Amino acid sequence: MKTVWILGDQLSLHNAALNEADKKTSVVLMVESKARSQRVVYHKKKLVLIFSAMRHFARDLRDRGWQVDYHALTDTPEFGVGLQRHIETFAPEEVLLTEPNDWPMMETAKQLPVRLVPTGQFISTRAGFQKWAGQSKRLLMEMHYRRLRNETGYLMNDGEPEGGQWNYDASNRSTYADWHRQAEPRPEPPSVLPDPITEGVMKMVEDVFPENPGRAEGFWLPVDREHALEWLDGFIRHRLIRFGSFEDLMVQGEPVHFHSVLSPLLNLGLLTPHECIEAAIDAYHRKEAPLNSVEGFVRQILGWREFINGVYWLKMPDYKQSNYLNAQLPLPRFFYTGDTEMNCLRQVIKQVLNLGYNHHIQRLMVLGNFFLIAGVIPQEAERWYLEMYVDAYDWVMAANVLGMILYADGGYMATKPYAAGGSYINKMSNYCRDCRFKPTVKVGPDACPYNYLYWNFYDRHQDELQDNPRVSMMVRGWRNRPEAEKRQVRDSAQAFLEGLQA
Ligand code: FAD
Ligand code: SF4
Repeated sequence: MKTVWILGDQLSLHNAALNEADKKTSVVLMVESKARSQRVVYHKKKLVLIFSAMRHFARDLRDRGWQVDYHALTDTPEFGVGLQRHIETFAPEEVLLTEPNDWPMMETAKQLPVRLVPTGQFISTRAGFQKWAGQSKRLLMEMHYRRLRNETGYLMNDGEPEGGQWNYDASNRSTYADWHRQAEPRPEPPSVLPDPITEGVMKMVEDVFPENPGRAEGFWLPVDREHALEWLDGFIRHRLIRFGSFEDLMVQGEPVHFHSVLSPLLNLGLLTPHECIEAAIDAYHRKEAPLNSVEGFVRQILGWREFINGVYWLKMPDYKQSNYLNAQLPLPRFFYTGDTEMNCLRQVIKQVLNLGYNHHIQRLMVLGNFFLIAGVIPQEAERWYLEMYVDAYDWVMAANVLGMILYADGGYMATKPYAAGGSYINKMSNYCRDCRFKPTVKVGPDACPYNYLYWNFYDRHQDELQDNPRVSMMVRGWRNRPEAEKRQVRDSAQAFLEGLQA
């Protein structure tokens, strides 16, 4: 008899280890580990998502005739205990485990009596990515994306990109004013009602993790394959059409807008990257979605998602300690409450406390931008993202937070730091309208803090950034400013940053 051990983020019937086993002679092992769920203080909706999805997956396997040995959280202190109890009961000749998706679990697995089976949860293999990356000092996402477009044939026509261009970013830059002018219909935010299994998990999470951020109540996500497929279909039918044009927009009170909210499901294994991409391309062929939207969506998954995962396996474990800009500010406390006068941050933090979700531009240009220009310690920012998001995992955090937003890897995977002042947020959202600060004022008590923090960032990092061709102009611009102006920027930034620690 064999055992197939399935982890909480490997919930796919295409699971590589499962594919090697026969249901007549194998048992599936699933373990909810208390120690693992206490590694950081996870948002309660994240814990509900994982444990409910695991329990639904166990149910679906049993319905398909598999025997499942399930160890619930309340009496399983850690993975090793669940595994040991299983071995004592079933005495399997071997335990198969699909390669874990993150480094710490991979290291743990290497110490356990299991045989690792290569994962198929991503389109690019770890070895394939490493071969492509070679010894390059810098990696360009665009080149990786084109390689995978060629390899998979997605949006390709006789070796040429569909429509003649590799990307349609230029059509995907609508501002808040464009959106408002066009009076586009507002999309219904998606949600699924909890069933009795999820309700049981919600109660358990509130009992076992009462101090964690967020609330289990109002849980809104799919937890099984059937609802995940409906969720994907809902996005393709109702939101993909405008995804491209409005993907960079932030609208107060509209948490999802035209985004897909597929990351929680993709990262659990409930959906495959192939089927999400193919559903979007099919909609394009049926003429139900324009190319700028479909290519933009495909680039997020085939390009960014695969790239982020590739960089993780290439650079771990040292990558996690990166701090190229030597950022030293501890994480401000308001990130756990949303109690700040900065309306953009208040809205985005309250949203994540409520839902466990922000869309990409909120994560990048409101939160990430603030962490970068205020100089928050990279590892503290990373831990916060890991705690807050329903789709957060070690593999997806490292390169997004340390590489993309904080430039902590010295520009290995981002061609420039994503720093911006208040005018960007004002152009792409309606947050500034309800803010006590003014995006047009540069220094002083009424100025938008993003404005002086932005120039203060360039002031502090002239040496590191002066040779970067994409931002050297900003460094020169700063150096040419009158001394009195520079002093005002530094004073405003210092007063603001000291206020954060008070
Ligand atoms: P959509 O905008 O609809 O995009 C479609 C899909 O593309 C996503 O579902 C996701 O699977 C993929 N994708 C797009 N960009 C990325 C990316 N940079 N990295 C990985 N996948 C991407 N993604 C996570 O899955 N988990 C995280 O914890 C996470 N944290 C992030 C933190 C920061 C600072 C940044 C800048 C990005 C982060 N991302 C993370 C990537 C991206 O923001 C989310 O995947 C996306 O916002 C999820 O919402 P969605 O499904 O509605 O995405
Ligand atoms: Fe955010 Fe500045 Fe706009 Fe206020 S004024 S919402 S702080 S960008």
